[in-house]
Amino acid sequence: MTDTAALRASGANTSEFDAIIIGAGFGGMYALHILREQGLKVRVYDEAAGVGGTWFWNRYPGARVDYPGGPFYCYTFSEDLIREFDWPDTQPDQPTVLRYLNFVADRLDLRRDIELGTRITGASYDEAAQRWDVATSTGERLRAQFVVCAVGALSAANIPDIPGRERFQGECYHTGRWPHDKTVSFTGKRVGLIGTGSSGIQSTPEIARDAAHLTVFQRTPQYSVPCGNRPTDPELVAAARANWPKFREIMLRTPIGSPDEPSTLLARDHTPEQRRAVYEAAWGRGGIGSVLVGTYADILTDKQSNEWLAEFVREKIAEVVEDPETARKLMPSYMIGTKRQVMDDGYYQAFNRDNVSLVDLREDPIVEITERGVRTQSGEHPLDMLVYATGFDAITGALQNIDPRGRDGVPLTERWAQRFNSYLGLTIPGLPNLFMIHGPESPCVLYNMPLGAEQEADWIRDCIVHLREHGIGAIEPAPGVDLAWAKEVEDWGNTSLYPEADSWYMGSNIPGKHRQFAVHLGGPEYFRRIRDVAEAGYPGFVTEPERSRAASAG
Ligand code: NAP
Repeated sequence: MTDTAALRASGANTSEFDAIIIGAGFGGMYALHILREQGLKVRVYDEAAGVGGTWFWNRYPGARVDYPGGPFYCYTFSEDLIREFDWPDTQPDQPTVLRYLNFVADRLDLRRDIELGTRITGASYDEAAQRWDVATSTGERLRAQFVVCAVGALSAANIPDIPGRERFQGECYHTGRWPHDKTVSFTGKRVGLIGTGSSGIQSTPEIARDAAHLTVFQRTPQYSVPCGNRPTDPELVAAARANWPKFREIMLRTPIGSPDEPSTLLARDHTPEQRRAVYEAAWGRGGIGSVLVGTYADILTDKQSNEWLAEFVREKIAEVVEDPETARKLMPSYMIGTKRQVMDDGYYQAFNRDNVSLVDLREDPIVEITERGVRTQSGEHPLDMLVYATGFDAITGALQNIDPRGRDGVPLTERWAQRFNSYLGLTIPGLPNLFMIHGPESPCVLYNMPLGAEQEADWIRDCIVHLREHGIGAIEPAPGVDLAWAKEVEDWGNTSLYPEADSWYMGSNIPGKHRQFAVHLGGPEYFRRIRDVAEAGYPGFVTEPERSRAASAG
């Protein structure tokens, strides 16, 4: 029996809402604010002990915003919020982002409608009533016409199934589930770190500073660029505050929702000397946007352009890392940017320390985890602490963990067993009245996430208002539109080099997960596209007249 069916059978009291939002991060908090403004009775549920979503959980040392930050990685809809919060750095650290989200929760009086420490354990659609039955970890039974899943694209932690995993007797953490109720100390400890994506690379210098010894277990070497964090420019902040609609308009126009215009230069139009000067200038400024988007327009579309930049970064690694054998192991070879680009603050430099060593798992694979450490083919590495920086079942994992059952009681995991599908990256065939923020086949992780969440949540609000105004009780994608949408997403993907890489964008980091590019690359084109659908009266959707209105306006 499912959680929701068991609750229904138990006769537990039901709380009725117009909309239930799952997740109290950027997307869920904004959705709460704007749905409440419409007079809807709304409640947000989150497993965490505080608001913040991704920024609540990812509090590992060194975590920072990797997007052009300062007043640009934040809510953009309110000039008051822009004026009232001071961002100290261009790449804010995790405590600052979490402080910001708490500030917003208070400023917009969101907390009275947020239930923390409560996981959604199941949801099933009652076709006759046009309502979702939702079960929680605290045994509550909820009912709502609409469910908005703001569950986070990077929230379902991936802990690889390495033999002996449970046997380790030392301290053990995942970067994406870092403890919020205690301070983790590395002092005097032998620490093992598995994984060299953003989380592993950002935490390496921080752990190395205090640990007796840090062993980094690397499967795929990465290109990392300097993060270029610096104090926020007060003149830029003053200009942004004085002229926010103009800044926002630029962000809405650029491909990744950034205040910086992308380069329009092609690498092949420059001489090697000119290219070097362009790369060096970007490297000096630092930041992912600066290097990948600000240098040449064709880095992610032209293999030669890509290789020129990749070679430049490899040269930088060779310059920094003193031991040639370690430098060799750190050299990446895949096409730069096709796995999620990483930025760091002293990653390669950390390998010049006496207390840091690198194990190249391609040459010396992990055999098992033991009570006392990690055994690779060459022998055991004794450890007091093991840190998994092994990423997430990205974009689809968190939703599949809830596994909502739509029409005919079919669970999402079954619907998505062969491939995931959506319409507009916002809705799923067979799951009426369920919406996603940053779902698969939306721009999600390749766009300014707060700005993307605002635009997606606005679309969801407008859709709900439309349904209410027209006496519509249920909406869902029409048969076949998901296939056309998948083709559109694939076509966008094929304009780039992304589909050629083994990355979490492609699902390749999770054993057994099918290979499918999960991101819509259209950026502003995507947002125009979904707005057009709304303005045209929601073509591609089928609707049913409303049968009853259970929840009253709040
Ligand atoms: P990730 O990019 O998926 O990296 C996971 C790492 O673990 C990879 O090096 C992977 O190797 C390795 N790994 C996975 N399974 C393994 C196994 N069985 N044995 C050995 N190694 C294994 O995860 P992440 O670093 O947590 O980052 C995820 C995403 O979150 C980022 O890409 C970024 O979008 C976001 N993020 C952002 C920030 C920021 O804004 N500052 C910070 C952290 C994370 P392979 O490469 O070989 O698979």
